[in-house]
Amino acid sequence: MSALTVPAVLLRAHPYSESSRILRFLTPELGVVAVLARGVRTRNSRGASALETFARGELTMDFRLERDLQHFRDFRPDAGDPRRLGRDLLPFAGASYLAEMVLVHAMEEGEGSPELFDHFTGALAELETASPERVPGVFLSAAWGILSDFGFPPDFRNCVVCGVSLDAAEGDAPAEGGQEHELARFDIEAGGLRCAGCGGAGTGPRIGPGARAALTALAAGTPPDTLPGAAAHFGILDRFALVHLGLSRVFRSADLVRTALHRGSARMVPQDSA
Ligand SMILES: [Zn+2]
Repeated sequence: MSALTVPAVLLRAHPYSESSRILRFLTPELGVVAVLARGVRTRNSRGASALETFARGELTMDFRLERDLQHFRDFRPDAGDPRRLGRDLLPFAGASYLAEMVLVHAMEEGEGSPELFDHFTGALAELETASPERVPGVFLSAAWGILSDFGFPPDFRNCVVCGVSLDAAEGDAPAEGGQEHELARFDIEAGGLRCAGCGGAGTGPRIGPGARAALTALAAGTPPDTLPGAAAHFGILDRFALVHLGLSRVFRSADLVRTALHRGSARMVPQDSA
């Protein structure tokens, strides 16, 4: 049996017995691997303190491709500080949601993706350090990027039915005071927006030019510094992810994200009355 050392990030840990845990790591080449770690539940055991959820580093395991559960040898953190995610609710809730997306998808696919690994670890690094105003955009941008890595890139530029450029359909930016625009609609199943002409009596949320510009920036990996309507953005992302990942149940961490977004927006609104 040979030892294999790979870059890895810890997504989740489950108790397995009195003294053991099953650890699920994301790796660039092997995708999600499950590793049995004996004796790491005791406080002072070797490597236990390094095994924080969302820790990034080098995983060494006894690896056999045909085996579902690999054997843990060692984990050495080498980047970031996952405890910083706990400084506020949203960085932690967002990281949990992204990890859940990765775990749910990995159960179906089971192959590696260096792009996905880079996206996910890059998002953790940003969530650890971003200012409170930037966290919602960083989280949502990472989530759209991960969905693209899974093969479900959203299309916010062209109508998903007739292909017309939505830039052209919206015309010039509205003059001050704002003239009424015909709004696009989100077609969750089709994976993008319908122009006003194709939107008809559709049921998806209406998306104005400002929201579409924000969606385009998020999907491009360039989140705006502040994101008005972050809770509504999350509602769209969450529905899109459930439909395209084919899930019959909701994400466990979605409620935590909603709670954090509401708390955050309440904090950012000046409160001059009770
Ligand atoms: Zn159209």
